Amino acid sequence: MVNVFITCLAACLLHMLHSAPNSISWCYHKASCSDIVWHIIAEKDRNGTQQSPIDIVTTDVHTNTTLTPFTFTGYNEDATLTEITNTGTTIQVTLDHKKMHVEGGGLPGLFASTQFHFHWGNGSATPGSGHSVNGKRYSMELHIVSKAEHNGSLPNDSILAAFGFFIEASNDTGKPESWKLLMSYLTEIASAGDKTRVSDKLTMDDLLSGVDRTKYYRYLGSLTTPNCDEGVIWTIFKDPIKVSQDLIDLFTTTVYINKNSNSPLMTNTFRGVQPINGRIVRSPIVGTKITGLLMPTSPTTTTAILKLTSTTKTTAILKPTSTTKTTAILKPTSTTKTTAILKPTSTTFSSVSL
Ligand SMILES: [Zn+2]
Repeated sequence: MVNVFITCLAACLLHMLHSAPNSISWCYHKASCSDIVWHIIAEKDRNGTQQSPIDIVTTDVHTNTTLTPFTFTGYNEDATLTEITNTGTTIQVTLDHKKMHVEGGGLPGLFASTQFHFHWGNGSATPGSGHSVNGKRYSMELHIVSKAEHNGSLPNDSILAAFGFFIEASNDTGKPESWKLLMSYLTEIASAGDKTRVSDKLTMDDLLSGVDRTKYYRYLGSLTTPNCDEGVIWTIFKDPIKVSQDLIDLFTTTVYINKNSNSPLMTNTFRGVQPINGRIVRSPIVGTKITGLLMPTSPTTTTAILKLTSTTKTTAILKPTSTTKTTAILKPTSTTKTTAILKPTSTTFSSVSL
């Protein structure tokens, strides 16, 4: 009897040891299980060199015109957002992957969109996007997870494509309406494990409004939560979705990380940026300066100072003719609709758009 007990105990201990890396739960809120130790928890990709998220340094981005526009199918259909869930680490919305597809954009084939979820910080005090651009983090980030299809079905070992959208706070209240509708479900899923059906007529396009989906960054990375598996094709869209601060705040004031009455609120649900390790970020965007004001195609220095006295509709087109250093000052005097064409007296501009 004793022998049986000892044998069982040994077997159980062995099982615990082997299953330890996967059985340790991860979290965002405690040092013992936060992203500080995920590289230990994520045994498979412990030494991974292609981890996500990253900081996108726009001056290092390579322009790649083979990154074509995407085709999004089903993104304009309602009844495709089926269920919203509090997973304990995020808020996740299940998509009808039979109707939701993405192709193009340099992706290898057709991808079915299965879910989207959010990452956020702590109200207006802490921005919570995982990815950042030139060190700037946005208020939140939305990730759409899509899996490669094979003959119309999803194989278990699908390649993953992740689409990241930044969310920037606006000064409105309750805007946009689509986000207000979606956020209205949060009170129904306050505790971890809670889920409810999405019954409102909402489309993915409604939630992504204001984003030019031809402007994006592409790199190879990983899941941003354990096990942090690599081989994920990341697309980060340049334009943010504008959402009013009151709706953003609902994430940090409404949902909890477990079912206990003393559960902490779900806050700061993002992983810190990971080393780029020589990876190249590519983009179809010609010119990558974050200001977006000056995008010279030549490597020389160009400075343009535009001083418009009018506050009405104004279009300024700068057409320099050469490629060396130039400073130009434009001072239109009209107070009505103005079209100004700047022709510097020095013949030394590269191509600039304002
Ligand atoms: Zn994510």
